[in-house]
Amino acid sequence: MTNFDFDYFVIGAGSGGVRSARIAAGHGAKVAIAEEYRVGGTCVIRGCVPKKLLVIGAHFAEDLVDARRYGWTVGDKSFDWPTLRDNVLADVDRLNGAYQTTLDSHKVQTFHARATLIGENRVLVDGRELTARHVLVATGARPMVPNLPGAEHGITSNEVFHLEALPKRAVICGGGYIANEFAGIFHELGVEVTQVIRSDKLLRGWEPALSDRLLAIATQKGVQFRFNTIPERIEKRSDGSLVLHCAEGKTIETDLLLWAVGRLPNSEGLGLEALGVQCQPNGAIPVDAASHTTLPWLHAVGDVTDRLQLTPIAIREGHALADTLFGENPWIVDYAHVPSAVFSHPPLASVGMTEGEARTALGSVKIFTSDFRPMKAVLAGRNERSLYKLVVDAATDVVVGAHMIGPDSPEILQAVAIAVKAGLTKAQFDQTVALHPSMAEELVLMR
Ligand code: NDP
Repeated sequence: MTNFDFDYFVIGAGSGGVRSARIAAGHGAKVAIAEEYRVGGTCVIRGCVPKKLLVIGAHFAEDLVDARRYGWTVGDKSFDWPTLRDNVLADVDRLNGAYQTTLDSHKVQTFHARATLIGENRVLVDGRELTARHVLVATGARPMVPNLPGAEHGITSNEVFHLEALPKRAVICGGGYIANEFAGIFHELGVEVTQVIRSDKLLRGWEPALSDRLLAIATQKGVQFRFNTIPERIEKRSDGSLVLHCAEGKTIETDLLLWAVGRLPNSEGLGLEALGVQCQPNGAIPVDAASHTTLPWLHAVGDVTDRLQLTPIAIREGHALADTLFGENPWIVDYAHVPSAVFSHPPLASVGMTEGEARTALGSVKIFTSDFRPMKAVLAGRNERSLYKLVVDAATDVVVGAHMIGPDSPEILQAVAIAVKAGLTKAQFDQTVALHPSMAEELVLMR
């Protein structure tokens, strides 16, 4: 039998790679992991975690205003970006350390260097050629920057957490997750925000009733939207400001441009082509349901495979693979009923089929909605209505989709997702006694 330096060599210490390495080590495998940047990956270092902290920080802007209606005297309020930024980045450092500690405590050897594939079961890292029985590529994805003249004058979500100062004006190009989340953050922090969207659709693929509601609320708050607007070149002026020159002669001036137009798998320069692994045109590594490539010793999980670009999915894929390879417990990830949220202002959360998807897949569906003003908003005098929508299979009464926009909707939806995943019926929702007074009680009161 061949002797390898390692049983498992993981390239990329993000959510998927770290989980897979840790689980494999727990099964007794000799594991190494290579990371060229910081241990933790996109989610921890420049994604979900720092973003959510900024969302929380930005929300105080409205809470401080609303507090007055609840009898509080709030003195002159001011906001200091460096304080929030540095506290968030300090927490990122803490988590980075925690991830490293996890790897160390599981005796996973970490190489703080870029690793490449140099042959069958062989990697090159830190100038050393090493062999491994199995190799996992978990290198994630990076923000896409359009190929336009002057595009480099914009920043991406990689840089946005490190801004020296907040701009007066910001243009955010895109209508997806990151664009809507940063539109909310920047707007609450006092930046004049314009979202530039190439089509007439915000959050394509989401339940349209929710994205329409987000558009209405964000517009009312003061975010500007330019639909059907396609940037063609970016001009940087001598005073540092930027001008987006768009199709049909439209121009938009700004102080900061954030590209939020999707993410591309990080598969270049790994040596995949030489091994005969053909990536998709966008760079995604093709894998089967068990995350195996066409080579028996090579596997890939997470954003680099571009299945569902979500942290909990990468974690599951990495976990399933390690159990399969080293734990004598083969299983695959179930991609049905994956909940997700956009931490916009207010947030959206969703699980299962939209009304349109259900009509196509099932034919006859029943729709239940609750359109209400949350109690907190009523007293605060805020005319912001929440919207909850349940999609029910008319033939079986099973709830096949739940969609929500409003305060705390991601927190509420996580619990609803259990019911939808379990295949509960609308009648079972109705049999559940309301928890009063709450926003979530609307879920069992829709008739
Ligand atoms: P999204 O895929 O969510 O949105 C991309 C947006 O950019 C869409 O509006 C798209 O328009 C537009 N777009 C695409 N290409 C171009 C182009 N060339 N010019 C102009 N506009 C363009 O991408 P994000 O970057 O926001 O996020 C990437 C992924 O990361 C998400 O899909 C999600 O999976 C994950 N993510 C998850 C988060 C969460 O769970 N809360 C938070 C952040 C990211 P169109 O609709 O026309 O294609």
